[in-house]
Amino acid sequence: MKREAIGCAAAPRTRSWATAALPPLLDWTASNLLHSTPQLLMALVRQHGSPLHVLWPHRLKENVQVLRTVLTRHEVRFELFYGAKVNKSPALVRAAVESGIGVDVSSAYELRDALLAGADPRRICATGPVKTDGFLARLQEGDSLIAVDSVHEFNALERLGTARRPARVLLRYRPASAYASRFGMDGDEIRHCLQRLAATDHGLVLEGFHFHLGGYAHEPRAAAVHELAAHVAKARALRLRPRVIDIGGGLPIRYVEADLYQHYLREQRPAHYRHGRVPDSFYPYGGEPEAGQWLDLFLRSPAPGGGCIADYLRREDLALAIEPGRSLVDQTAVSAFRVHSVKPLARDRHVVFVEGSSFSACETWFGSEYLVDPILVSDHAGDGEPCHAYIAGHSCLDDDVLTNRLIAFPRRPRPGDLLVYANTAGYQMDLLENEFHRHPMPRRLAARPEASQPDHFVPDLPWSD
Ligand SMILES: *Cc1c(COP(=O)(O)O)cnc(C)c1O
Repeated sequence: MKREAIGCAAAPRTRSWATAALPPLLDWTASNLLHSTPQLLMALVRQHGSPLHVLWPHRLKENVQVLRTVLTRHEVRFELFYGAKVNKSPALVRAAVESGIGVDVSSAYELRDALLAGADPRRICATGPVKTDGFLARLQEGDSLIAVDSVHEFNALERLGTARRPARVLLRYRPASAYASRFGMDGDEIRHCLQRLAATDHGLVLEGFHFHLGGYAHEPRAAAVHELAAHVAKARALRLRPRVIDIGGGLPIRYVEADLYQHYLREQRPAHYRHGRVPDSFYPYGGEPEAGQWLDLFLRSPAPGGGCIADYLRREDLALAIEPGRSLVDQTAVSAFRVHSVKPLARDRHVVFVEGSSFSACETWFGSEYLVDPILVSDHAGDGEPCHAYIAGHSCLDDDVLTNRLIAFPRRPRPGDLLVYANTAGYQMDLLENEFHRHPMPRRLAARPEASQPDHFVPDLPWSD
């Protein structure tokens, strides 16, 4: 799918605190809505309120296809699970199910929604550290995969298991690179579970091993597979039959062109931020590589016993399972905020107040910043004064700021214009969303492919089928 970078920050850099531009990469369909039919988007916001999240669920299927192509080229068996926590949209879960992949769930509610979306319960994988007995029982009844996070959870499953059908389990391993993490089990605990699995009829069947790491590098994941090789061998020596290694999620996506991003990082100064602070860390917004290349690099990494990871998986007849969240929702949504007012502040700066809050574009709540420029969408001709402004939400909290950077607008936004944040489906748009000040929850609209009419956008509700 063609993507283009379009931004609003092309103003001349007249002040030392003018930030370098970070125009977002934008799919053609989203770009078309913003630039060819801005009146349509504005009408949708009038009808459904601000902010408004617009989704293109079919785009998820293309993201699945990219990963499938790489895995097929390497001739490894694989199982993909959509990491459903990345976004609350039922339409995205349906798109994942329609694309033929499984769903990774971490709560009874995510499980319910996956089943409502038509997921085969056997293609559901449950992760997360707190699985209640009720949740575990439902997973077990559906013959879903359960990533066991602790010996405590192993015991709970054993208790449930005697009366019911066996539970299909992955043992979640805590890789050496994440030794201080609270998730998963260390080598001793894994060996303990393997011994118990081999010893008696306990109602658990070992399907394989699981891990999930923070960060976005492929190298620690490859290292974790090295560490797991010994446990795979041990399990087989105990006559168990592990058939899958699940490497979790964390496949990266790119929000802005890599060279612009590097330029931005080199140029940024405390004075570019309204509070005079450069955040300590950012997501690699303009990083290399993207998900498909990342997966290729991972599969080409050196493997235990020689060759590469793909060779190892083939040799050991292991399937590779992956649970991508963010990378599957790349380019599936934008979030539009209506401009309420523009207020001049000291030192020639402005603040743009929008109808909506930073809970609907939440990176600033993590002490970081969403490093894409909002796109100004207007049905007025483009005259007016240039201005530098940060973007604030409608609440009374001083920290309710969507963008702390002083964005260089070629012309001052006007009340009624829209500021559109691109590519928000990957956690930004609804992780923290709430009804603060009793504002209703923002609406989501799901677009049909090539949507160009108001009736091509349908409310994204679980019961909208
Ligand atoms: C969050 C999570 C994922 C998805 O991570 P992304 O970075 O969104 O790809 C997958 N598996 C587990 C266990 C997770 O906790």
